[in-house]
Amino acid sequence: YNRQEKMILGEAGVLAITLLIGIWLINKGYQKQNEAANQSRNFLLSITHELKSPLASIKLILQTFSKRKLESNQIQQFSENALSETERLEGLVNNLLLAARMETAYDIKIEELDLFPLLDGIRESIITKNSSVDINIIMDENTVISADKFGMTSVFINLIENAIKYSEDGPVISIEYKKDNYYDIISIADNGIGISQKEKKQVLNKFYRIGNEDTRKTKGTGLGLYIVKEIIDKHNGRIQIENNKPKGSIFSIFIPI
Ligand code: ADP
Repeated sequence: YNRQEKMILGEAGVLAITLLIGIWLINKGYQKQNEAANQSRNFLLSITHELKSPLASIKLILQTFSKRKLESNQIQQFSENALSETERLEGLVNNLLLAARMETAYDIKIEELDLFPLLDGIRESIITKNSSVDINIIMDENTVISADKFGMTSVFINLIENAIKYSEDGPVISIEYKKDNYYDIISIADNGIGISQKEKKQVLNKFYRIGNEDTRKTKGTGLGLYIVKEIIDKHNGRIQIENNKPKGSIFSIFIPI
């Protein structure tokens, strides 16, 4: 009888522990779901804002054109503003389409990729828009890697634009190439606001943005780094985020040779 009692007690104990683990797992799942729901909500809020604000500016500029006689320098200024808003919209739509394609039908095409001209072209187009940015490319002009051109272009644009966006005035960005026995390594270092240890693990997630809609100063959707991660994953590569010194972040991408 004593042995039977012990067995029942043992079974009850196992049952209780299983139940506790079950409750813990359900709660964890629920928290995850909640986090995902919050991030999707944040995404919808930011995307609505991101789409509405350039459209509103462009509309206003066109209304001004049609209602008022303007001096040629004013026309020039308004046109430049409309163009830069249009480019912002275009960048956003490109990222949205790319993120959607990543999940359905994007296959990379590995080819010999001349790294320096690709990065130099991106630097040129950024500097024409924003002359206060300093971008240094530290690599041999003949550096060639094996990678998907379209995908890598998107990776570099997203990383460099982030390096600028998350810096206070006078961003200084260094893009450096190295290699080891297994990987081509390209790192993009900035002197910006940096990323905490905890957030380093999260920023690559879809829709993830640091802070909340009320406190954030910058515009965005939380899709950029997700796209970067998906493209690097498709190359079987990896991404590493470290602190820069004295401040800022270094994003390094490792592409298998
Ligand atoms: P978005 O820029 O649209 O918010 P991203 O996916 O590109 O989305 O980046 C996710 C978040 O990671 C950003 O909201 C920002 O908080 C943080 N982040 C990205 N790049 C940097 C960087 N170079 N320095 C500091 N924070 C960064």
